[in-house]
Amino acid sequence: MQIFPLKAFVDNYIWLWQHENQVIVVDPGQAEPVLAYLATHQLTLTAIWLTHAHADHIGGVAKLCQAYPQCHVLGAADWHGVNKVVAEGSQFNFFDYPVRIWHIPGHTADHLAYLLTNASQLLRVFCGDTLFSAGCGRVFTGTMTQLYHSLQRLNNLPASTWLYPAHEYTAANLRFAQTVEPDNQAIRQALHDASSLPTLPVTLAHERLVNPFLRLQQPQVKAAVMQHGLPRAEVNQPMAVLSCLREWKNHF
Ligand SMILES: [Zn+2]
Repeated sequence: MQIFPLKAFVDNYIWLWQHENQVIVVDPGQAEPVLAYLATHQLTLTAIWLTHAHADHIGGVAKLCQAYPQCHVLGAADWHGVNKVVAEGSQFNFFDYPVRIWHIPGHTADHLAYLLTNASQLLRVFCGDTLFSAGCGRVFTGTMTQLYHSLQRLNNLPASTWLYPAHEYTAANLRFAQTVEPDNQAIRQALHDASSLPTLPVTLAHERLVNPFLRLQQPQVKAAVMQHGLPRAEVNQPMAVLSCLREWKNHF
């Protein structure tokens, strides 16, 4: 499977899946990088998959659809430009590979993930701004409870799952992760490796070692949030730990 990132804005990635002369892109906040790639390689845009309706994810849709009017735009019903509505439980095939949709709110009240399975059952998940390497999205129009359940759900996928977040935030996230867990060797190593871009995609196995938002039960994470002000009585409630970490990261 040929999947790779096109850079957009400062730190967005538009994931591009190329199959023969056809292409699917995920979250094209800008049209230009996609149009340039398609023109250079003489390819056609078959579909756009949207995870949520923030401008840096959907900003390029109108222009791409002008250039490729047959293009399918997948997303929620009220997102601008969507012509194929998908929701939790939707299933379909693209390029003969099965895809299913999860609703993973939290960052926004409406946020989709696209779960793609290859011939050997390996999963790839386009998770937008819900989960980043070593971090997670801020809570905007969703709720902390939604974010908690969405992260838990992603964390219950097989360890071999490849995650395709929409931002290159890895190094900054790892610096926060290292503040939370100064003795974590996996975080130290990942921070060293993060000088070479792109740092994505990442496996869920890796995230379980370095991402504090998936490590809510780890003694060192609990100790760190207590030091940061979470009452001892709440430290065994993973959602309270998540909430404290998220607030802490917002001001880091
Ligand atoms: Zn967003």
